[in-house]
Amino acid sequence: MNSLLFENDTIIAIATPIGEGAINVIRVSGKNAIEICDNIFHGSKKLSDVQSHTIHYGKIVDSNNEIIDDVLVSVFKNPNSYTGENSVEISTHGSYFISKKIIELFLKFDCRLAEPGEFTKRAFLNGKLGLSQAEAVIDVINSRTEASLRGARNQLDGLLSKKVNLLRNKLIETSSLVELELDFAEEDIQFLTLQEIENHINNIKKEINKLLSTYSFGKILRDGVNVALVGKPNVGKSSLLNYFLKESRAIVSHIPGTTRDVITEEISIDGVLFKLFDTAGLRKSENEIEAEGINKSREVVKNADLILFINDITEKFSRETFEILLKLSSEEKIITVFNKVDLKKENLPEKGIFISALTGKGIKSLLNTMKEKAITSQNYSEKNAVVSNLRHYNALKKANDFLDNAKESIANQLSGEFISIDLRNAESSLGEIIGKVTTDDILNNIFSKFCIGK
Ligand code: GDP
Repeated sequence: MNSLLFENDTIIAIATPIGEGAINVIRVSGKNAIEICDNIFHGSKKLSDVQSHTIHYGKIVDSNNEIIDDVLVSVFKNPNSYTGENSVEISTHGSYFISKKIIELFLKFDCRLAEPGEFTKRAFLNGKLGLSQAEAVIDVINSRTEASLRGARNQLDGLLSKKVNLLRNKLIETSSLVELELDFAEEDIQFLTLQEIENHINNIKKEINKLLSTYSFGKILRDGVNVALVGKPNVGKSSLLNYFLKESRAIVSHIPGTTRDVITEEISIDGVLFKLFDTAGLRKSENEIEAEGINKSREVVKNADLILFINDITEKFSRETFEILLKLSSEEKIITVFNKVDLKKENLPEKGIFISALTGKGIKSLLNTMKEKAITSQNYSEKNAVVSNLRHYNALKKANDFLDNAKESIANQLSGEFISIDLRNAESSLGEIIGKVTTDDILNNIFSKFCIGK
């Protein structure tokens, strides 16, 4: 499968978060996990003799016969465990001190502390999880909103792997036919016309591009939507932020130019995470500290997925700021908002969203617009595979580039060898996503992002 030498020495780690809780779980996995546990666990039976997937009550006892804790031990026998190896999970009373003691007892035997993500790495190496599924485990652990959890579950359920596998098989089929033809070059047999090969490639490219187009949504599921609040001083940016948050973290003030720092807060709208950045405004300033804030604001606007361009409806529309925004970002990202509608009832502008950060009027509709802009414009359905991981995105892009090269070879009527090389490269780029082709670097990079005990 890959160049990694797979050791199945026994590893141990606390699987529950550090801190006070009702119970802690210690996870042990490896060839000798169950035998080692038998050395320190005193129950009614030896764990080596019990059936897989059973739970046993007993005591953990140290070398002086002192009882460390009453525990429950779950036994999983190879290959039917998370890692695919012999494993035990020890539920102890929720004390870090007890867990530490028990781990120390294990370490006296042929057992070592697990590296971050090592349990999941073993699960992958033993064919229990696809690579993209293993990565989804991190996302499930890290997901902060319902929507990001759904996205991660979607990947964990293997939708992306299934889709990529299908495309990879199609590529293998096409490249095999091209290669077969090379073998029969002298006999002048043609299995596929160049046009047919090109059609195959175009179909696969179409599917790859569909997946690529889900990335921005996938990223939103994972990381949230960056929203910049922009507008002249005193239009009510901080008040709006406060209304959003229903608590006063941003400074609300009458003096223009006091919101100097970029403040970030997070809100969840129907399960989607929005990160709000209040900016210092984009106007020119003589004041040094304020000028620094303005530079920061420009950065925030450039990186934003959405921009709330806030105006005071009792003042002149800030055409100048709007022009600056158009230079820093694209028009579709901008939502023009008129605040303080409680102060003006007539001669409202034709376009825009009208709100009052004071009374809350119109804020629901603003939130809906934000959600729609961020999501419904995206090519997404929960039943389809979604690319939310940069590594997957890059691998798909690479595959797409190789397919473009193959098309160029066809257009230039180059020999089948040239086409075949690029098809094979595209195939191995897809393979990187599902772990068919992996280098130690890729694996180490992925699994080091896990917490210890996963
Ligand atoms: P920022 O400089 O853009 O952050 O503006 P602030 O949020 O500090 O608001 C400036 C002033 O406008 C404060 O006195 C707010 O109370 C007031 N303000 C903000 N929103 C509204 C609104 O919707 N209606 C009214 N009447 N006053 C508002």
